[in-house]
Amino acid sequence: MATKKNNPFLLDISWAAGQAQGTSRDVEFNFPSLHFEPDLAIRDLNGKVTTIVSEDGVMIRGRLTAETELECTRCLDVFPHQLEISFAEMYVFSRSQDEVNELEERRLPPDGYIDLEPLFREYALLDIPIKHICSPECKGLCPVCGGNLNKEDCGHRQEKIDPRMAVLKQLLDDEE
Ligand SMILES: [Zn+2]
Ligand SMILES: [Zn+2]
Repeated sequence: MATKKNNPFLLDISWAAGQAQGTSRDVEFNFPSLHFEPDLAIRDLNGKVTTIVSEDGVMIRGRLTAETELECTRCLDVFPHQLEISFAEMYVFSRSQDEVNELEERRLPPDGYIDLEPLFREYALLDIPIKHICSPECKGLCPVCGGNLNKEDCGHRQEKIDPRMAVLKQLLDDEE
């Protein structure tokens, strides 16, 4: 098993030293619920992380799915969002830090463990859209009473649009 007791995200890659290029190992991850600081909560993280020995380090490939909850930016309702946490990162055995920086590769930690938590967090965040809309048809909130227009018809919508359209029409007329 490739994890330390106190941190379930630590991936043991010490076995990889001296292994033939292309040797690989899978580790399964299943977490019913997780909280990534400061503000990302996810459920049902499932999938696997594959370690593949390369010429001068290891490739860590993750293929996981999870679910999170987002707040719709239009109607403010909370809705579930499926996450694909998918990544491939190279880690190199000891080299000069300059060279590592240049290649944008990560250096293998000397203790032989890679902390996957920042990777899970980073790639989960990448799969969250900038605009969270619960559905393309989301009608948003009523600008008059704040009611959720997906759930109720408060009757304000029509009144609100008409005067604005009238103003716009007036402006267009004035321009001519
Ligand atoms: Zn919405
Ligand atoms: Zn209303």
